[in-house]
Amino acid sequence: MSTRHNKKDPQLETSRYLVARLEAEAPSRTPQERLKALRAALAGSIVFTTGFGVEEQVITHMVASEGLDIEFAALDTGRLLPQTYDVWAQTEARYGIRIRPFFPQADALEDLVSAQGVNGFYGSIKARKACCAVRIAEPLSFALAEAEGWLTGARADQAAHPKGHGVFSLDEDHKLVQLSPLFDWTRAQALAFATAHDVWLHPLHAQGFASIGCAPCTRAISTGEPERAGHWWWEDEAAQRSDREASPGASHSRSN
Ligand code: SF4
Repeated sequence: MSTRHNKKDPQLETSRYLVARLEAEAPSRTPQERLKALRAALAGSIVFTTGFGVEEQVITHMVASEGLDIEFAALDTGRLLPQTYDVWAQTEARYGIRIRPFFPQADALEDLVSAQGVNGFYGSIKARKACCAVRIAEPLSFALAEAEGWLTGARADQAAHPKGHGVFSLDEDHKLVQLSPLFDWTRAQALAFATAHDVWLHPLHAQGFASIGCAPCTRAISTGEPERAGHWWWEDEAAQRSDREASPGASHSRSN
């Protein structure tokens, strides 16, 4: 275990009350007001992990436009789409921000690829989860290690979410307050905001990519397909369901 896991206990019960209050007030607040409310409620750092999708570009615009003291971070899995690096650089330049990268640990990655092969994640759900653990979950824990708040681009209707996930949630795994300011928005609302405010979007959205993730695990979707069909499409739905039932809580977020 890395010595970077050194966050102090953020007093979960206090955070639970805070989340309940903020969540009760959320319906009457705009996403920008929700961002400001979280910033006002927490003394410590708030980290926004962006994957450069539509919602995340909208939130970046909101945070930068409001001048909020929120840190930007991105998980560089080593398998990102080439275009994502252009969006990353362009976003930094436009808003005058730095988006801090978090990489997989070299020894863990070498062990993973040595064990399962460079594209071993196609072999089984277990192998894919092992890859996501090394390339996403562990770097995410590093990104959030010092944070009291975590900002994400999750929307309620784009994927399955853990029970209790709302606009404001208590993330007990990382022991912090999570805010998904667009959680109750539709994709159409996010796109409308992007158009109205000239938010720059990832070029692959125009080619049918609903979300942006790792190159080998993300594809364009057809009209009518759910957004989640753009990730890990080779995994049989029934097998995924069986796997989830066998390992409750082990499923990985598809928001990357
Ligand atoms: Fe590995 Fe694919 Fe998960 Fe990226 S999305 S970490 S390449 S399995």
